[in-house]
Amino acid sequence: MEDGHGATASGSEVSPTLLEERLHTPVAGRYEVIVAGGGASGLVAAVAAARAGARTLLVEQQGCLGGTATASYVAQYIGFFNHDVQAVWGLPLELTRRIVQAGGSEGFARYILAEASASPIEIRNFPFNPEVVKWVADDWAAETGVEVLLRSSVVGPVMRERRVEGLVVEDIGGRRAYLAPVVVDATGDAAVAAKAGVEMQADLEGGRGMRQPHSLVFRLSNVDVARFRAIPRERKRAIALEGVRRGELYWESLSFMSTPGGTDAICLMSRIRGLDPLDPVQASEAERAGRRQVRGIVEFLRREVPGFEKALIAGIAARVGVRESRRIRGQYVLTQEDILGQVAFEDSVALGSGPMDIHDPGGTGIQLFMPPAPFEIPMRCLVPRDVEGLLVTGRSISATQEANGGARHMATAMALGQAAGAMAALAARGANSTRSIPAGAVQALLRREGAAYKVGDAVTRSAAAPATA
Ligand SMILES: Cc1cc2nc3c(=O)[nH]c(=O)nc-3n(C[C@H](O)[C@H](O)[C@H](O)COP(=O)(O)OP(=O)(O)OC[C@H]3O[C@@H](n4cnc5c(N)ncnc54)[C@H](O)[C@@H]3O)c2cc1C
Repeated sequence: MEDGHGATASGSEVSPTLLEERLHTPVAGRYEVIVAGGGASGLVAAVAAARAGARTLLVEQQGCLGGTATASYVAQYIGFFNHDVQAVWGLPLELTRRIVQAGGSEGFARYILAEASASPIEIRNFPFNPEVVKWVADDWAAETGVEVLLRSSVVGPVMRERRVEGLVVEDIGGRRAYLAPVVVDATGDAAVAAKAGVEMQADLEGGRGMRQPHSLVFRLSNVDVARFRAIPRERKRAIALEGVRRGELYWESLSFMSTPGGTDAICLMSRIRGLDPLDPVQASEAERAGRRQVRGIVEFLRREVPGFEKALIAGIAARVGVRESRRIRGQYVLTQEDILGQVAFEDSVALGSGPMDIHDPGGTGIQLFMPPAPFEIPMRCLVPRDVEGLLVTGRSISATQEANGGARHMATAMALGQAAGAMAALAARGANSTRSIPAGAVQALLRREGAAYKVGDAVTRSAAAPATA
């Protein structure tokens, strides 16, 4: 990274409704691949690109890597398994092993998802302590040679006509540009793609309130987890329904994760509806509304739920978890029919597992079911149709809302990240257009790095070697 100074404005014109700025933004560094957003998908994308030999920069606006897993306390990876078949291997599995080695998890477990809802399902999850994931992610990026900028917000792309050639970043020192032939947008909000003019899925446009609700996750200490887990499911559901009826709970859930030791509860129980995460005023209100809900939920848990009588609030996530904001319209749009029909794609680069998981945008329920088998996700879902130099990974890939409900879990986001990193390194090194990267070369690189991307891979490997991380 070269030294840079913040941008200087050589002049500006202000009208009552518009400030027109002329900025001189220093170019602070040149890379082969730049990844915007260091969450589930972006962290793995950066590691994959660096492992493939690309000089890689990862830019993250929070003070830590991990994304929703760390900053929003969503403390379980799901999507590694479809029923008992392990679909996600490669770098995401390596991350789970590192977390276990660091004492941040006891490994994969069986878990009843949305136990107090009308449609609970048994899954295999990977619960973890989000604080440990923060330092594991730091070490992983450093060991791989990824350069990381924290507390740095991507403002937008550097564009030349319809080609992205880098990013403009704002940090404590000001505004700088970083250049690269390939940029990966892993912001979850398609923040770079939107500013680059990439077409978005129309169903989320215009603030029509169609998005799944957000949740603000909180952490309690001094919980008798074993006592709570022993309560029969019917009783848990009755408590949750009574809480909803009285307006003290916001959806049919008493869901929480516990870190090794089993004395704390990381609770996913708030539900914030009807606020647009892409509107700054509504996004601010979502944080406050989440905290108001958390205060009431904690009182409810202490009063009504066995095991929580002496619970203490230990933390509230730094930011609301957003399930949906933008999805691009890429070279291919993944559909629920593709997932449930197990459509095979020649250019498959990642496997999803489900569950199909759509939180009722307006109510207190959840639609939850497991696809019959792992499903393939084609490379084209990561590729914008009309912008060069840009790939999009994570929860903003090109998919319908229903398909995204099955493809947005963190293990899937990480598998997509590994694919995006491989694609980016190949495009940067081979000077290929990001819109015509040879799928065979990506698949060969993924195979070399231990990833599974065809349904047959998952089945064979699961039979041979069940995951033990
Ligand atoms: C409440 C909730 C509960 C969920 N439950 C589960 C669960 O139990 N298990 C599971 O596996 N999945 C769960 N999910 C889904 C999952 O967490 C997300 O879909 C997943 O994290 C998507 O990965 P991502 O990398 O695309 O985004 P994220 O993990 O959100 O990462 C995006 C990163 O980009 C950064 N970023 C954004 N904009 C900028 C910018 N302009 N400049 C720099 N950095 C930027 C963000 O700070 C963040 O670190 C849940 C999601 C929510 C919201």
